[in-house]
Amino acid sequence: MFPVEQIRADFPILQRQVNGKSLVYFDNAATSQTPQIVIDAIVDYYSNYNANIHRGVHALSQEATDKYEQARITLQKHFNARHAYEMIFTSGTTHSINMVASGFSELLNEGDEIIVSALEHHSNIVPWQMLAERTGAKLKVIPMNQEGALIMDVYDELLSKKTKLVFCNHISNALGTINPIEEIIEKAHKVGAAVLVDGAQSVPHMSVDFQALDVDFYVASAHKVCGPTGMGFLYGKQEWLEKLPPYQGGGEMIETVTFEKTTYAGLPHKFEAGTPNICGGIAFGIAIDYVNSIGLDKIAAYEQELLDYGTEKLQEIEGLRIYGTAHKTSVISFNVEGIHPYDIGSILDKLGVAVRTGHHCAQPIMDFYQIPGTIRASFAFYNTKEEIDVFIEGLKKAIMMLS
Ligand code: PMP
Repeated sequence: MFPVEQIRADFPILQRQVNGKSLVYFDNAATSQTPQIVIDAIVDYYSNYNANIHRGVHALSQEATDKYEQARITLQKHFNARHAYEMIFTSGTTHSINMVASGFSELLNEGDEIIVSALEHHSNIVPWQMLAERTGAKLKVIPMNQEGALIMDVYDELLSKKTKLVFCNHISNALGTINPIEEIIEKAHKVGAAVLVDGAQSVPHMSVDFQALDVDFYVASAHKVCGPTGMGFLYGKQEWLEKLPPYQGGGEMIETVTFEKTTYAGLPHKFEAGTPNICGGIAFGIAIDYVNSIGLDKIAAYEQELLDYGTEKLQEIEGLRIYGTAHKTSVISFNVEGIHPYDIGSILDKLGVAVRTGHHCAQPIMDFYQIPGTIRASFAFYNTKEEIDVFIEGLKKAIMMLS
């Protein structure tokens, strides 16, 4: 049996009340909650060894540097990257994508093509549109079907020798769809294109092996996997990171500086200008260790149980439609006929239940279904079936009040 009660005790926030009710937190796709061990790591850093890294000869600086670099190795091992220096610390998924999109300005020419999926978060659309505007490259879209899956036959048709880059999320934040990224990567490589996978939603729910995937770039945020906000990573194959120009100039990313010429530092420092989020990096490593102490396979199996249970209960409600029924993780996006998602979300909040309402930064998906938005319940491994019951009861109450 999955030890959910023991796990819940690790998360202080789960004990709190909201509007006089026990919190039911089903907004995990937006951000996950933080276990005490990660909170302790943050307090420990600022209480005991807060110092700037890589430069100091003094003990605190060396301690902070060691812990920060240890976190990089934790990430490298967790994702099976070939080298620790292929793991670039960033402020999150959005930052990581912008770094690659910015770098590709120098690698693309007019007439080149780049391909995006229809299932993307805005942060994996807009930077590429900006890149296309800068370079004259053409942005093409892999369409989706009613089930919320990508239409892969069309992907085959879009790919050509002109394709230079394909970007797609591993899991859709709006629907939970798990995309066939193995196939996407393999086919892109056949035409010589690189692939960036947005793993913001996959990293919390499944094991990911960068070398097995043979992915060129993979990006994610710490705050969706029990870590702090303002922290994330860009994984890039060494050959790609060497090809890309630096994103920002400044301290830390240089080898030598004169007023005539600067030479850049090697990886990972070339992409880590300025004082980084030292504490965030360390806490990210602790968060990954924490998740591994439970086991991502066990987490995935338990979340599947929650997904099945929640889906079954929701399907019993008349007039309720679930969007995205393809192979997916523990995200349920739905609407109730004749009721605005925001109204339901507000009543659920009064009952202590936190869900997301709106377009989930994925307006093209909402446009596809011709809806303004959905209500999204996204489960994590510290949620329970009892919480789903509270949510369903609350939802029924909201529907009664709003009908
Ligand atoms: N991509 C996906 C699939 C996401 O779910 C999110 C966060 N909602 C992002 C990108 C952006 O992540 P961040 O805001 O942490 O940069």
